[in-house]
Amino acid sequence: MSDIKALIERRERLLGPGNPLFYDDPVHLVRGEGVWLYDADGRKYLDCYNNVPCVGHCHPRVVDALCKQAGTLNTHTRYLDEHILDYAERLLGKFDASLDRLALACTGSEANELALRMAKLNTGGEGFICTNATYHGNTAAVAQLNSIFEPFEGYGEHIRMVNWPDPYRAKYELEGNALADAYADEVRHAIESFDEAGIKFAGMIVCPIFANEGLPNVPEGYMEKAVGHVRDAGGLYIADEVQAGFGRTGEWWGHTSSGVIPDILTLGKPMGAGHPISGVVARGELLDEYRSREMYFNTYGGNQVSCAVGLAVLDVIEKEGLVENAASVGGYVLQEFRRLQAKYGIIGDVRGRGLFFGIDLVKDRATKAPDAAAAKRVVNELRNRGILMSKIGEHDNVLKLRPPLCFAKENADQLCATLDEVLDAL
Ligand code: PMP
Repeated sequence: MSDIKALIERRERLLGPGNPLFYDDPVHLVRGEGVWLYDADGRKYLDCYNNVPCVGHCHPRVVDALCKQAGTLNTHTRYLDEHILDYAERLLGKFDASLDRLALACTGSEANELALRMAKLNTGGEGFICTNATYHGNTAAVAQLNSIFEPFEGYGEHIRMVNWPDPYRAKYELEGNALADAYADEVRHAIESFDEAGIKFAGMIVCPIFANEGLPNVPEGYMEKAVGHVRDAGGLYIADEVQAGFGRTGEWWGHTSSGVIPDILTLGKPMGAGHPISGVVARGELLDEYRSREMYFNTYGGNQVSCAVGLAVLDVIEKEGLVENAASVGGYVLQEFRRLQAKYGIIGDVRGRGLFFGIDLVKDRATKAPDAAAAKRVVNELRNRGILMSKIGEHDNVLKLRPPLCFAKENADQLCATLDEVLDAL
């Protein structure tokens, strides 16, 4: 039997307190395969949470590519080498033709840091807009954008936070286009307030599906209008695709369905299926201008192993039709969640994009009062029944599910049946 208490004590002694752990009864994992995770006692869990191993845990093709390359050559990008070029060609081929340059790094935070620097250098500005319930990473500059966890030093004058475009608990008594206008106007007002404060505006950074905010059904036209205001003021639109990218939404990229092509976008998490690779994709002139004025080198970013892994991830997504799978199984899950919504009043709202879901739990459907305590209970109860997921959102009441993209219909049935049991027992 795994001694959970002893592990937690050891962890705190060595790593200090405050390292977040999931669940009241934390899980001690030792192995993963496909959509399954196994604990130290041999218990099997259906993974409905992890978006990083997008192709499934320990996919043999990815493991093989990693091992082969690690046994052949792994240096950095200051020698001529085809791996990074092959990867850049394949990856850039998946974006709009205007997005034709790539820089590689290791974490989503680093990618966002680089995107901010590129935006500052190209615009000469320093003011950034983000939403009021987000997370973009952990460097000093990027932490300034984190509204879920306030940085210890507080926020600088160069940051403005706008409400995320939530139609469910809308901040305005409006609907449709008018609601989209009202949320987008906040962006315009934020830009005006930069002007008043004498701070030059650089751009807006948002996750194109507002994943950390709670995955809203973004009011139609919002992105077009918000980005219109940004561009009118000479700013750049940075799309943080760290969570939304690589097929998660049933399309390759989260920004696609909005119809608005970013100036710069950042990639991470699923890019290496667990191996640390991240990237910035940008319009050529933006990256070229940046590179002509600042030396950017990342010791591990773009090394041969990372690129071999990145290529293998693209191969698997394509060969196994995982984008299409995210769309079709995702559609099925969403329909099943809606069935549960009809059955249980505690489900106020169900939202989904591909294999990314948010189930908004409420104390009362009429008032939409968030039920964070119930969300916590459901997450723990599901864990006890062998299903791993978590919760998120401005009110911490939204069940958050993002299984590996190889999630099958039978996995969906197990998830929905178990969720049904747990909700019934609440
Ligand atoms: N952007 C988004 C949208 C994220 O959700 C995260 C991590 N949760 C990051 C950036 C930061 O990525 P990393 O932890 O790899 O630095």
